[in-house]
Amino acid sequence: MNEHALPGELAANFFDGEHASAHPVRLHIRDGRLHIEGEAIQRTVALAEVQWPERTRHGMRMLHLADGSSIQCSDSAAWDQWSATEGGRSDGWVVRTQQRWGLVLASLSALLAILASAYVWGVPWLASAIVATLPASVDQTVGEATLASIDARALVAPSHLPPAQRRGIREAFDAAVARLPAGTAPRYRLEFRSGKIGPNAFALPGGAIVLTDELVECVKGERAVIVGVLGHELGHLQHRHGMRMLVQAGILTAASGALWGDFSSLMALAPVWLGQAAYSRDAEREADAESVQLMLANGISPDAMVGFFRAVEAMHAGQGQAQAGQLGIALASHPANDERIAYFQRAARQH
Ligand SMILES: [Zn+2]
Repeated sequence: MNEHALPGELAANFFDGEHASAHPVRLHIRDGRLHIEGEAIQRTVALAEVQWPERTRHGMRMLHLADGSSIQCSDSAAWDQWSATEGGRSDGWVVRTQQRWGLVLASLSALLAILASAYVWGVPWLASAIVATLPASVDQTVGEATLASIDARALVAPSHLPPAQRRGIREAFDAAVARLPAGTAPRYRLEFRSGKIGPNAFALPGGAIVLTDELVECVKGERAVIVGVLGHELGHLQHRHGMRMLVQAGILTAASGALWGDFSSLMALAPVWLGQAAYSRDAEREADAESVQLMLANGISPDAMVGFFRAVEAMHAGQGQAQAGQLGIALASHPANDERIAYFQRAARQH
């Protein structure tokens, strides 16, 4: 019998798995192995193979070994103390803690990755799916409310273009759209305004495309540019970008808990949101592609838009961005970057 454990050792009982008799042993851990030593018992087991008993609050600790033998210790406190310090010393509590922390960090980054992909792909996907279920009348209501709000905020004023010129632009655009493949053009209605947002154009859900006098004047009424600009806005309508942006904002707001499933408050906020938001780069790319398609269908070189972008850029350089920037969805709010300009140039070269 050797019940007196030295420092680092633990007294326990060994059962060989065949006989009921207990053999007193001392346990210690060295070199990554559990050593079991007692009278006529001398065993070692690799720590990797040891299944440490769970630390329950009470009761005996029992360790089962692969060969059917077991170790029992009735002093659970002593066992826990020993296994925590000795078990830790050789196989490394640092390692285990690192493993635990590694696990926490891994789970945390997995969670962040899921959230990030939900944000980047999930939300736009969900928004498109929701928008696809919305009837066109919703777009109409949102668009009308937004235009009323833009008019009320005096961001735009009535057009001063002569009625004949407006009619000419309308007819030219209708004729251009009629040359698109049948059934591809969305419903639209041209609205003329003038005012603070400078040479500009924007589309609202439901089909309103607003064109400013300043734009018509800036491009000297050039039909090619006007068709290109309106084609871009038609693209936003075709892909329901405004509604998608709104629904996305609604999803994110709902997710943050600020708005919960209340469609009417979403509708009430629509004009404000549409006024403040800007389309994503992807949305602009899609709209540019529609613009190119409309121009090509009408034998217009996409280069026409390059000149327009340059003119807007020069305008921003001269006046600052404050005025046009008041309406994020408007074409001239953010000068086209080099990538977009290059896109029209490439389209012009290819056709
Ligand atoms: Zn746009």
